[in-house]
Amino acid sequence: MLNKNQETFTLTWKFSMPSIRLFVEDDLSFGSVITLSRPQTHYLVNVMRRRTGDTLLLFNGRDGEWKTELKKIRRDACDVKVVDFNRKLVIVPDIWLVFAPIKRGRIDFVAAKSTELGVRVIQPILTDYTAVSRVNEERLRMNAIEAAEQCGALTVPTIRSTIKLSKLLADWPAERKLIICDETGTAPPIYKALENTSSTKEWAILVGPEGGFSESEFDQLRQCVSFIPVSLGPRILRADTAAIAALTCWQSVLGDWHSDPKIKQL
Ligand code: SAH
Repeated sequence: MLNKNQETFTLTWKFSMPSIRLFVEDDLSFGSVITLSRPQTHYLVNVMRRRTGDTLLLFNGRDGEWKTELKKIRRDACDVKVVDFNRKLVIVPDIWLVFAPIKRGRIDFVAAKSTELGVRVIQPILTDYTAVSRVNEERLRMNAIEAAEQCGALTVPTIRSTIKLSKLLADWPAERKLIICDETGTAPPIYKALENTSSTKEWAILVGPEGGFSESEFDQLRQCVSFIPVSLGPRILRADTAAIAALTCWQSVLGDWHSDPKIKQL
């Protein structure tokens, strides 16, 4: 039995606690019942100490964000019922991050940070000097989902299968502008390069591996007219820093940082 003080505390805490947001694959509509996964149930019940009757937000990247109520808790699953609509779907700008994978911990960092920065597609590539031979796309997706849940995003970036840079360039869609992060000191500053662009809607940012692009790769990249080489300043950035810096510049010049970023109180 809770004494008066404990009761007040619980009530206050209950109504002031931030809403938990979870990503689900299920369709979301008024009255639907969703069964959460074992990891989601563990997080909700054992880590966040939620109980039946508590509420949380669900989103699936298609139907916007819905308020749900925790209905039934079982050992390794729980059911939540959709009780109210919370926010309509907002899609991030059409910006891809194309990058040569780096060591494990930092590649997870890039997946999470680029999700927070509103990337739509993450495309790992293999280049002449790429140090990593394969990428765990599923782990990248888990990092992206967790970042989307925490930052209030209503979509999760698509993590594409890793392909060779040469294959990517061979099939590159002419209407999508490719920003090449070029540390050789010959490219214009990124802000200058972006300010003078047309009203292109489809964009991508390409970042090389720790060892940079090879000469033949640079030749290939400089041949394509829709490619835009940019400098990220006078210092050589690590690949993960360059990815985040370039995305930040792009969002601030051409992206959705101009729109009113009112993300409703979560
Ligand atoms: N060739 C570099 C290492 C590559 S840095 C060296 O001499 O040590 C990894 C990637 O980050 C590069 O391929 C490039 O895409 C990007 N990058 C790093 N610093 C940059 C800068 N100042 N301007 C533009 N791109 C940069």
